[in-house]
Amino acid sequence: MTTSAERFTGSFTQQEPIPEAGIEAAMAVLRHGRLHRYNTQGDEIAEAAALEEEFAAFTGARYCLGVASGGYAMGCALRALQLQPGEPVLTNAFTLAPVPGAIAACGGRPVFVEITEDLVLDFDDLTRKAQDSGARILLLSHMRGHSCDMEALVALCDRLGLKIIEDCAHTMGAEWNGIASGRHGVIACYSTQTYKHMNSGEGGLLITDDPDLAARMVLLSGSYMLYTRHRAAPGPEAYQDIRLDVPNVSGRMDNLRAAILRPQVALLAERRARWTTLYHAMEAGLAETPGLRLIPRPLVERHVGSSFQFALPDWEEARIAMLLSRAVARGVELKWFGVKDPVAFTSRYPHWRYAGGQSCPNTDRILAGLIDMRLPLTFSPADVALIARIIREEVLITAQAEISGDVAAPEID
Ligand SMILES: *Cc1c(COP(=O)(O)O)cnc(C)c1O
Repeated sequence: MTTSAERFTGSFTQQEPIPEAGIEAAMAVLRHGRLHRYNTQGDEIAEAAALEEEFAAFTGARYCLGVASGGYAMGCALRALQLQPGEPVLTNAFTLAPVPGAIAACGGRPVFVEITEDLVLDFDDLTRKAQDSGARILLLSHMRGHSCDMEALVALCDRLGLKIIEDCAHTMGAEWNGIASGRHGVIACYSTQTYKHMNSGEGGLLITDDPDLAARMVLLSGSYMLYTRHRAAPGPEAYQDIRLDVPNVSGRMDNLRAAILRPQVALLAERRARWTTLYHAMEAGLAETPGLRLIPRPLVERHVGSSFQFALPDWEEARIAMLLSRAVARGVELKWFGVKDPVAFTSRYPHWRYAGGQSCPNTDRILAGLIDMRLPLTFSPADVALIARIIREEVLITAQAEISGDVAAPEID
């Protein structure tokens, strides 16, 4: 079906192994058997508590809490802000399913805010929906690592009376204007799931500077009356008035995952540099491809390029489906946010029916032509250059092709 011989044979879902130091630390935890974070001997510092200290130091936050997943982290943040049943929570219309899922799980009502062509929150729509809904919380998703102008957002949210929770699942280790992603909101949430920037299979982290919110989150995560064993957490006085009022919604981080993660905190800066190299290689390889629009990246942003997006503005569905089929036949797995039925990880807001029928026409138009791919660190710059050549060739061919009838998009994960 294609004339060119070049084919990519690598895997878009293969991550790097856990660093040896993490494997050894994990073996030590398995050997002593004290996997539960509060199961310590004498003055032993649990791996979970040490991880929290190290991640707090990495971000510059006063407090940090390890939890069971990124989704749990978002729910914990919403509960700490005492979300009420039926309360509206603003969030990006372009995000991943666990974000509205966390809002719904806490009894909240997701209100989707439009995005711009550059895949970030649309401030005009945010203003309108904040005023119409009366929301007091914005769960901001730095989706696929695209951050909006954070200084402008903070100023706007101050005016609108909105508290910002940052979903940093795609911006762990990123910076906006020299400030670590996650340091603009009242709370930030991170995921340590396999496909993010540190890998413990599942896991999540929360940071905040607010002692009351930190204490609430520690209690929520299931600390029983053992909260004084935390190190990156406020002192006992922060718990005195609330410790019998905050429910236990168990979702702790365990020592095995923490042991796997600790050596990875120190690798985040180096990983970001390698991801930047891959990202730039893809950008260079796809530059000035007719019919394909690259997403501009603001100069003040230091993003973590663990995935890559490009737009095919105004392409018909069948043409995009044809491109995806041709690309996957050459080993290049592209994901498409415009696909009718959700595939693998990729769904979009109309698929989350529990959120009610909401309409974000600009986002619909943008997602209809939005293509996405992973850039795992197991790729070399040469791999990325090859992938870019294949995409470029197939875009040029598909853009000219006669389209007849329906072409189904391939099933990929
Ligand atoms: C993965 C992800 C999450 C949630 O992380 P889990 O650890 O899988 O629960 C939240 N937001 C975004 C944008 C994500 O991609």
